[in-house]
Amino acid sequence: MSIPIDPKCCPICGKPNQCDRASGKTNESCWCVYEKFPPMIFTVVPKEKLHKACICKECLKAFKKSAIQEVVPAAALAEV
Ligand SMILES: [Zn+2]
Repeated sequence: MSIPIDPKCCPICGKPNQCDRASGKTNESCWCVYEKFPPMIFTVVPKEKLHKACICKECLKAFKKSAIQEVVPAAALAEV
């Protein structure tokens, strides 16, 4: 028996991800459609929750911040 995955909760922090897609609404209405998710962020998501639950805004923000500072040089900043 495995723990059921809640698609409404962020797989990283466990807080509500506020994803409209998870609550059955149209794809276009969700904030995540307009956000860019760096591919590296999925490496911090537990395997069993990958593609099953959305990452929340806060975690995306936090990840981007740390990724830009630690991994990505100035070239990536120019892109934004
Ligand atoms: Zn989160």
